[in-house]
Amino acid sequence: MNKEYNGLNDFKKYLDSKKRIVLKIGTQVLLNDKDKLSLSAFKRICSFSHSLIQQQKEVILVSSGAIAAGKDILNTPPPSNNFSMPEKQAFAACGQALLMKNYGSSFKKYGIKTAQILLTKDDISSRKRFVNARNTIYELLKNKVVPIINENDTISYEEIKFSDNDHLSALVSNLVCADLLIILSNVRGVYDKNPVLHKDAKLIKTIDNIKDFIRDFKETSKSLQGTGGMKSKLYASFIAAGAGIDTIIISGKDGKSLDSLADGILTGTFIPSLKNNINKKKHWLLFGMEKKGQIVIDKGAVDAIINKNKSLLASGILAVNGEFKKGEGVYIVNEEGKIFSIGISNFDSKDIKIIKGLKSHEIKTKFGEGRLSALVVHKDKLAVTA
Ligand code: GLU
Repeated sequence: MNKEYNGLNDFKKYLDSKKRIVLKIGTQVLLNDKDKLSLSAFKRICSFSHSLIQQQKEVILVSSGAIAAGKDILNTPPPSNNFSMPEKQAFAACGQALLMKNYGSSFKKYGIKTAQILLTKDDISSRKRFVNARNTIYELLKNKVVPIINENDTISYEEIKFSDNDHLSALVSNLVCADLLIILSNVRGVYDKNPVLHKDAKLIKTIDNIKDFIRDFKETSKSLQGTGGMKSKLYASFIAAGAGIDTIIISGKDGKSLDSLADGILTGTFIPSLKNNINKKKHWLLFGMEKKGQIVIDKGAVDAIINKNKSLLASGILAVNGEFKKGEGVYIVNEEGKIFSIGISNFDSKDIKIIKGLKSHEIKTKFGEGRLSALVVHKDKLAVTA
């Protein structure tokens, strides 16, 4: 249990301590029962964001809805997910502008300015672009502008896509060093069984161990318009939890729940961060950075990394799979091929093949004091997946 949060009675105090909040809005939250963008949904979300901002908090939105808005603009037939990638991209291109227009006009009422940021997975996996996006968002927050982030659907293709916007919201939470992620859903929170099928389903107020909870969770229903289901929200909260960020999953359809939350009363599900969370840079290594190949290492090296917090040296390397360049991300696997760590390689894969198994002095004797050394992945650029 998070140390500042001792049950729902202290929730107001807990919320007071949270200054930077990422608010994730799913497509379903923005649609009315005719599958069209609902202006009252935008008003509800902007009013909630305004309440948080009045409490001296910074709010960053991650909003879906572009594809659904575009379908409506282009008059496509009733909801279905059977659209090709270019069709969805065209919907997003049309719908994103309408999405921003609706947010812009709903926030204007409170004198709040908005900015659009569209990201692809590439922008997160490149450290340079990741830091650049962060700097831009910080500058916007300094100017009291609400950044509204979505995936850059029009140029995303399978290899560089986020799995969905729940995933994106968790990565953004780490990117902006958020204190809290609030995921607005079309249900009240997480239930012990499917509330549509079971009348006696109970809302879970706190999920203390998100890792175990996800393992046992079975997805029961998904909407046609959104991409994620509850499992993807739980997975997003797990990613956030790993970076020390708590998550709240709450209904975004119900203005009363949002008003209550702004007043410090929680009606949804609270998911505290993991106790053994990792620093933000290592979190990025695990969840953000692209991994290009694999380094297979022996038992002694596995032990040194996991239990002694050591760097990866050439002497413990058995094999290299795939091709990668110096500075790129790699999986580090044990002899059985199990991934247990991720790191940034100091050398090209072809060079590691030459020095693998060699001790430091052997590398020096063979190749001189030059380009190659025994240090293949420094411990500061290495994160253990467990
Ligand atoms: N980027 C998509 C959209 O704006 C939504 C993806 C998702 O909800 O996961 O429609």
